[in-house]
Amino acid sequence: MPICYIGFGSNLGDRLGYILGALEGLMAFGEIKKVSTVYESQPWGPQNQGSFLNGVLELETWLNPIDLLRALKSTEQKLGRRPRERWGPREIDLDILLYENHIIMLSFLKVPHPYLTQRDFVLFPLLEVAPELIHPLSGKRLEDYALNLQNRLVPYICILPSEL
Ligand code: ADP
Ligand code: MG
Repeated sequence: MPICYIGFGSNLGDRLGYILGALEGLMAFGEIKKVSTVYESQPWGPQNQGSFLNGVLELETWLNPIDLLRALKSTEQKLGRRPRERWGPREIDLDILLYENHIIMLSFLKVPHPYLTQRDFVLFPLLEVAPELIHPLSGKRLEDYALNLQNRLVPYICILPSEL
């Protein structure tokens, strides 16, 4: 079955509760193989919002990328995400970072995720669960992108997939 990597984040309310709810929700769409450390990170974009908890998980899934995106959006909604400004506060955000080595350039779905290599809260947890990954567009090792990126993440908690 295809392997994909999903980034998750929350900066409103019971942040860890939303993340645990999201992991539980995602178990309906495949098997969670790995979960990175959950990190605390400072907001990207608008600064007048609370800090985030972020991490990355590896999911083996039977859904194709478009159905997976729908599943992520419906999981966000079930957990109570309300529409707000882009890059603003959110109860839960679930993004497809990579799906096998597919390249998808649709208006509503871009894979690899366009900011994958520029955000510490995505790249470092991703490398933690899959250090050998190659970027499907550039052919470069993701590890090489990390050399140029400052890591400001503070470890918050570890979640064992076996205990979900
Ligand atoms: P953010 O860009 O901050 O994650 P949203 O979660 O509100 O904001 O997503 C905005 C839109 O981005 C979604 O409606 C979705 O269609 C689109 N999108 C494009 N590529 C992806 C991807 N790889 N993963 C998740 N959403 C994506
Ligand atoms: Mg999103």
